[in-house]
Amino acid sequence: MSQTLVRHGDVAVITLDNPPVNGMGHAVRTAVAESLRDAAADPAIRAIVITGAGHVFSGGADIREFNTPKALAAPTLRDLIDSVETSAKPVVSAINGTCFGGGLELSLACHYRVAKADAPLALPEVKLGLVPGAGGTQRLPRAVGLQRAVDMITAGNPVKAGELEGTELIDAVLSGDFTAGAVTFARHAAGAPLKRLRDMPVEPPEDGFFAKARSMVAAASKGLAAPLACVDAIEAAATLPFDAGIKREREIFMRLIESDESKALRHAFFAERASARIPDVPSGTPTRRIEKAAVIGAGTMGGGITMNFLSAGIPVTLLEVKQDALDRGVATIRRNYEASMKRGKLTPEKLERAMALLTPTLTYDGLRDADLVIEAVFEEMGVKEGVFRKLDEVAKPGAILATNTSTLDVDRIAGFTKRPADVVGLHFFSPANVMRLLEVVRGKATAKDVMATVMQLAKKIGKTAVVSGVCDGFIGNRMLERYQRQCFYLLEEGATPQQVDRALEKFGFAMGLFRVGDLAGNDIGWAVRKRRYAENPDVPYSKIADRVCELGRFGQKTGKGWYRYEPGKRDPIPDPEVEKIVAGYRKEMGIAARAIPDEEIVERCVFALANEGARILEEGIAQRASDIDVVYLTGYGFPRSRGGPMFYADTVGLAEVVKRMAQFAKNPHGDRAFWQPAPLLARLAHEGKTFN
Ligand code: NAD
Repeated sequence: MSQTLVRHGDVAVITLDNPPVNGMGHAVRTAVAESLRDAAADPAIRAIVITGAGHVFSGGADIREFNTPKALAAPTLRDLIDSVETSAKPVVSAINGTCFGGGLELSLACHYRVAKADAPLALPEVKLGLVPGAGGTQRLPRAVGLQRAVDMITAGNPVKAGELEGTELIDAVLSGDFTAGAVTFARHAAGAPLKRLRDMPVEPPEDGFFAKARSMVAAASKGLAAPLACVDAIEAAATLPFDAGIKREREIFMRLIESDESKALRHAFFAERASARIPDVPSGTPTRRIEKAAVIGAGTMGGGITMNFLSAGIPVTLLEVKQDALDRGVATIRRNYEASMKRGKLTPEKLERAMALLTPTLTYDGLRDADLVIEAVFEEMGVKEGVFRKLDEVAKPGAILATNTSTLDVDRIAGFTKRPADVVGLHFFSPANVMRLLEVVRGKATAKDVMATVMQLAKKIGKTAVVSGVCDGFIGNRMLERYQRQCFYLLEEGATPQQVDRALEKFGFAMGLFRVGDLAGNDIGWAVRKRRYAENPDVPYSKIADRVCELGRFGQKTGKGWYRYEPGKRDPIPDPEVEKIVAGYRKEMGIAARAIPDEEIVERCVFALANEGARILEEGIAQRASDIDVVYLTGYGFPRSRGGPMFYADTVGLAEVVKRMAQFAKNPHGDRAFWQPAPLLARLAHEGKTFN
């Protein structure tokens, strides 16, 4: 840590310095507490400034210390806040950049706050299923008023300091030499009466303010507890004396920290950070330079993949077999950018800058200088073979050759080249310019520097990367196959598509499986199933989905699928035709429909996922259970507040999961082999352990 306290004449400047985001770890808190004591004891000092090193004030708690004794060791953030607030000399928070969570709570306890106009301010604790726990819910309403406090605390999103100028939160927006400006401000404050937010009134709420706030927050947060608990804490600020409000905030915080919701959200937060790490590819591993990319195939995936690179400023050569397919692909890319522009997410200049980085081509010549080539052609081994043999001829030495295959064997594809170490799977999800998940498929020969490079690149293009080994469907789609099979069995046994979807959506899934099928196109899954029937003739499958596909009901694109759609609309309408198909199939199979409770629907779907996840884990296809959770949270709409399928199974208790699976196997139409617990699941359940 650098020098924490620097004297500027009669003003002490205390700097939070703990890269990368000046997290308020134990060492920082100790240094600040000591500096505050020194400044208080020094008669030559008349005012104090607290600021952050570099371009950040503080990102809040130091997440590296979460769940360690250091997080709770004195001085705590609340101790610091007391020292600052009770200081006899004015303390000015000089917000030089990002000021989140505990950083903002410390600032709120200062007597004044000055900021750079573009510094983002937020109390994002709600995203971890918590309320701010160090006075944020009590001081912020006093600073910005009730409505703004509700907006900021229940959503957790950043607001620029400039937008808050004129409120008690920002006393002055400074430009020019920021520290010098803050020192001058502090010097003027010396001698004046101290301004403490705790002593200021909260504006009286209008009649019904909190009832209205609760109904708005409940509608936006779909059943989550933390956003509503934030409203409770803010209401305490409006109705109780300050100290009683602080006590209430504490009680709410302590209750939430023990909730499954917060545990799941915190798990998701750490899981996403962990997934970037590969145990045998340490962080210092050299990487290859990726300055030019190429994409082969300008269809659904190729176009979306291309956009990721263009948006990140990386030039892309896009190769197609036919001029019309190429033109269509380029036009779709432009149309997608234009749609973002219309929504105000992109400026016309940025659109043109991105399009200028795109070079469409029909020949491999344009690929000779690419550092990375991603293939997104038809899902047929023969077509992939042709592409990779050609790439082996033309790509420069050291170029990374990637495939976007969803199901094919990446090792076989690598074998079509004389450089299998340079081959890797980059499995993007549809729409590839939107979905955050990227499965990085590590072949048996993939070089470590290739892995390090693509993991770094994933971050650059805004993706959450998870490493998967080679197997049919990799992590996500291999598990999806199990989940789908259960959904089809549920129809056979008596459920309707809309009942299954409703139960899954009530659990928190972004979309039920049948709606997803209609959106993505049921023909895609059908093609995969046909291959699987041929490869595994002994595996029992429900043929119910095939019946639907045989009638051309591919989903939204054909106006009919598991639901029907009005022309030009995307709202799924339950279709009696589908019920007839399902009823006919049941009759053929001799199955009497029964009423299936929603709870059973959810359990069968989620435990099917977790059981296959356990196999994936013990085979070493996934590096860790939390990676499997990340795949489902970022690629399959699994509810973040449930932490992912593996974490959810942990929450239920693995012994309970195994017990329920045994009951499902006994059901007259249960698939016994399906419900056989994976050896890892059985062992952990027996030992009373968890996946995560
Ligand atoms: P698509 O049919 O939309 O596009 C494929 C494109 O590749 C077509 O434009 C075609 O003209 C072109 N093409 C075919 N052979 C070629 C060749 N030899 N050289 C150059 N171009 C050629 O298919 P898609 O949905 O974009 O899928 C592409 C790949 O991505 C497949 O491997 C698929 O499994 C995978 N994938 C698809 C999805 C999805 O949801 N669609 C998701 C993840 C991965």
